[in-house]
Amino acid sequence: MSQLVFTPLEEIDKIHAELRTGYESGKLKSIEYRKYQLLQLGYLVKDNSQRIQEALAADLGRPPLESHFLEISSSIGDIKHAYSNVEKWARPEKPAFSLNFTVMRPVIYKEAKGVVLIISPFNYPVWLTIGPVAGAISAGNSVVLKPSELTPATSSLLAELIPKYLDSDLVRVVNGAIPETTKLLSLQWDHIMYTGSGRVGKIVATAAAKYLTPVTLELGGKSPVIIDPDCDLTTAARRILWGKVVNAGQTCVAPDYILVPKSFQDKFVEALKLAHESFYPKSADPSLPANYSRIITPQAFKRIKGLLDNTQGDVVFGGQTDEATKFIAPTVVKDVKADDSLMSEEIFGPLLPIVPVEDVDEAIAFINARDHPLALYVFSQNAHFKEKVFNNTQSGAAIANETVIHPGAEGLPFGGVGPSGYGAHTGKFSFDTFTHLRSSLDSPGWIDRILGFRYPPYTDSKFKAAMRLLPSLPARPAGPPAVAARTKWWGRWFFLAFVVAVAGGLTNRLKTMRGSS
Ligand code: NAD
Repeated sequence: MSQLVFTPLEEIDKIHAELRTGYESGKLKSIEYRKYQLLQLGYLVKDNSQRIQEALAADLGRPPLESHFLEISSSIGDIKHAYSNVEKWARPEKPAFSLNFTVMRPVIYKEAKGVVLIISPFNYPVWLTIGPVAGAISAGNSVVLKPSELTPATSSLLAELIPKYLDSDLVRVVNGAIPETTKLLSLQWDHIMYTGSGRVGKIVATAAAKYLTPVTLELGGKSPVIIDPDCDLTTAARRILWGKVVNAGQTCVAPDYILVPKSFQDKFVEALKLAHESFYPKSADPSLPANYSRIITPQAFKRIKGLLDNTQGDVVFGGQTDEATKFIAPTVVKDVKADDSLMSEEIFGPLLPIVPVEDVDEAIAFINARDHPLALYVFSQNAHFKEKVFNNTQSGAAIANETVIHPGAEGLPFGGVGPSGYGAHTGKFSFDTFTHLRSSLDSPGWIDRILGFRYPPYTDSKFKAAMRLLPSLPARPAGPPAVAARTKWWGRWFFLAFVVAVAGGLTNRLKTMRGSS
């Protein structure tokens, strides 16, 4: 195992001060310089993709395909997106026209927040560091990056490569564990982005409160999947199982548990078995390192195995574990009850409990009785079903017929709600997270011919002039509106059928008229 060299505690103040000086140098006011740094970051990943892949294999036993698809490719994608759009994002914006203020030339400037701290977790230690760093640079900030101590090979590699590719006045790595992070959190930052568990999220938010530092918390939790029997069952089973086995289930948006109608549970289990057989034929046994990731630490292995050992559900397949290699096989457990060990916390491992419910209403109530998840998945071919679930629940993301890949979807924010976190990142949302929207006016002197009433002494005529500016409201409502009934799916289809019928009728009539003329 690689030895991770921790940053000496006494150096952390110095790094913080040097980055403040770097920020104040104004280098990153230049969009060209930001783009140069972004491109350097892109080449850091591209030139070293083989070493990155090897580091991820050393830390997580990760198969190369998973590292390329979920970390290397998505990091380069994020950087390229920021590189191509930073000019547009950073351009000052004019607000919507306002008769009252237009002569004061209102403008919104996009300004860097300053010196920011990014703390990242172990599970995607490249994408969840490189992506936020790209966002912070594109917005013009200087950055301290604190990678996870649980991925020593990857965190060492980042500490080696970042000074080679990026301007050390602007981006630095601090490696370490709790004492180093605690030291970092004792300092004043202009923004902190933390990705990890809710437990540590509370520590970060509490430390940030001391300086009123804005915080983005990207947390986790139990992301449920609701199965509608009217789904594409083969695709559903493959996508759900893949979402669970990739990185051995150590994914913040992994499907955590399944809610399925009781009468459909066995059919769904059969589809999962087929998906499992197709993913792992004899030649691709998951116990072989080339095919499947390992659990990050012996402690995490014990925790996940404990959840499995204590379940009252029926293991359908999997269940094999090996402490020496931190291997836990992809495992599906059916007939799991709400008070089961597998439902007691975020699993963050390759165990998939199936909780049978009566119907979609019970599934919705089950989700609403728990913390808002980071992702909520629905597998259904029925628009009404999907709409019902999404309209009656809250979650960071609402995803139909897919799992895990939505954080990589360009243009969509990635973030939680309530206990799954606050704030968002990726693409423009990362730029916005690290940007201060600075309002500006430039008021001409002649305005006082209209606004002069504001100055004392306050007289009756000035009061009347002020009253003339009182905005008028729309007419007083007669009473509360009727609660709008949600559009019924069959209503839309009926409307569409009506339009098609009318169009068909018209076409026939035209044909008849042509034929008779
Ligand atoms: P973690 O909270 O244990 O560690 C994350 C970071 O916090 C590390 O850099 C670590 O050094 C630091 N840290 C740990 N304990 C600390 C303490 N007491 N004081 C200060 N800093 C401390 O998280 P993890 O185990 O690396 O990641 C797993 C969690 O992260 C899961 O809950 C998962 O769902 C969540 N996660 C969320 C997202 C997202 O984007 N929302 C992405 C990945 C992981």
